[in-house]
Amino acid sequence: MPERAVRIAIIGAGPSAYYAAAALIGQRNVEVRVDMFDRLPAPYGLVRYGVAPDHQRIKSVANLYEKTANDPRVRFFGCVEFGKHITIDNLRPLYDMLVFATGAQSDRHLGIPGEDLQGSMSATEFVAWYNGHPDYRDLNPNLEVEGVAVVGVGNVAMDVARILAKTVDELKETDIAEHALEALKHSKVKNIYVLGRRGAAQAKFTNPEIKEFGKLEHADPVVLASELELDPHSAATVEQDRMARQNVEILREYAARGPGDKPRKVHFRFLVSPVEITGNDSHVAAMKIERNKLVSTPDGYLNAEGTGEFEELPVGMVLRSVGYKGTPLPGVPYDKRKGTIPNDHGRLLNPETGDVIPGAYVVGWAKRGPTGVIGTNKKDAEETVALMLEDVKHLRRAAVAHGQDKKLEDLLAETGCRYISFEEWQKANALELERGKAQGRPRVKFINIEEIRTALGG
Ligand code: NAP
Repeated sequence: MPERAVRIAIIGAGPSAYYAAAALIGQRNVEVRVDMFDRLPAPYGLVRYGVAPDHQRIKSVANLYEKTANDPRVRFFGCVEFGKHITIDNLRPLYDMLVFATGAQSDRHLGIPGEDLQGSMSATEFVAWYNGHPDYRDLNPNLEVEGVAVVGVGNVAMDVARILAKTVDELKETDIAEHALEALKHSKVKNIYVLGRRGAAQAKFTNPEIKEFGKLEHADPVVLASELELDPHSAATVEQDRMARQNVEILREYAARGPGDKPRKVHFRFLVSPVEITGNDSHVAAMKIERNKLVSTPDGYLNAEGTGEFEELPVGMVLRSVGYKGTPLPGVPYDKRKGTIPNDHGRLLNPETGDVIPGAYVVGWAKRGPTGVIGTNKKDAEETVALMLEDVKHLRRAAVAHGQDKKLEDLLAETGCRYISFEEWQKANALELERGKAQGRPRVKFINIEEIRTALGG
């Protein structure tokens, strides 16, 4: 077989996939060709479908990914589903290395009665809905309710609470999906309860995110000073951890302000856990919460423990925001407990034997779980790529010769896949930007592949 570049398939086209591709083409020792596959028609994963629409600055990282995407050694194939069009078995003969960059597509549950009532959903679904993810176009959350409980105090909880608290005037300059903007225009939501099961010092949100609540046009942050009192362990945390200290300071400032006179309120509650969601005709009508105290475990972790003191919140919608979780991919090992693909620093492992699976790798949330910000994935992907480059020497090459790229096209055609190329996506992207310009918005998104094809002329 004539000498050819190392052929690499990346499954997924989100941030970790682009950081991996950038690291692969950025090195000079090994010649590579990278094909990226995504189930969705648009690239960039969570940057498009996860990052809040009013956080455009974070989204500008897509310009970097675009540079990688435009490199002639990198190709993008949208609307290609792993398990349906492509599988380990049909990719192995075409690629020397496979990289899973499939993220964490599901979410964790609370495990309390009433969680399945209408109006109770995951924050990730709600985020996907307002960000124009095609699978959630028809979520139709009922915003004719006055109270919403957001369970969890991470940055996703901050995003959904803020989007619910903002006015349409505040949101219309973002790239929020048009259907969401229209629904939020008629929102009756007045009280948003953000619930932390542990104390303010243990909150996972970061300083800029909690600070934003002090500057909303139409909503006040409401904090009870009594819930900010710190036990000795938490006081020690706050001493050592700058992020936690500033979070507590910001919350104390909100508590000192009092409830304010804006029509919407975002109530930040601490040391409370939901124990039951109750309904009216199968729809959420209230949430029962229990007051907690913090209990130190032998390893120094502070656990929330119920005190038997209960309260009821009048809410018609519940968004659980207690962390993303991976989903198993057909034919790919999966660690059910962690929700990740078993790996050793990015090399896939056979869970039964613990042996490395040659030529298979993982990056991003599928590798380490749903933690860190977008940029965390850069170092993470670079770690995996360094191992890939080490492994190249011992690589068993796939039996595809130089210039046989058409084999992939044949495979996709055989599996009935009509993919979208990066060039087609770029045309759709330009149209989205144009539609946005006409309305004074960063972009107006196409939601699904049918809309994109129609806009591109069939
Ligand atoms: P997260 O940061 O892990 O927060 C999850 C929250 O859920 C924590 O407060 C956790 O409390 C709570 N929780 C877990 N199980 C619970 C239960 N059974 N009952 C009540 N509360 C429970 O997760 P995330 O908010 O989904 O964010 C995922 C990652 O994306 C994070 O790294 C985040 O920083 C990042 N992100 C960043 C941005 C940004 O930079 N603007 C925006 C969105 C997301 P405990 O601490 O008690 O477990």
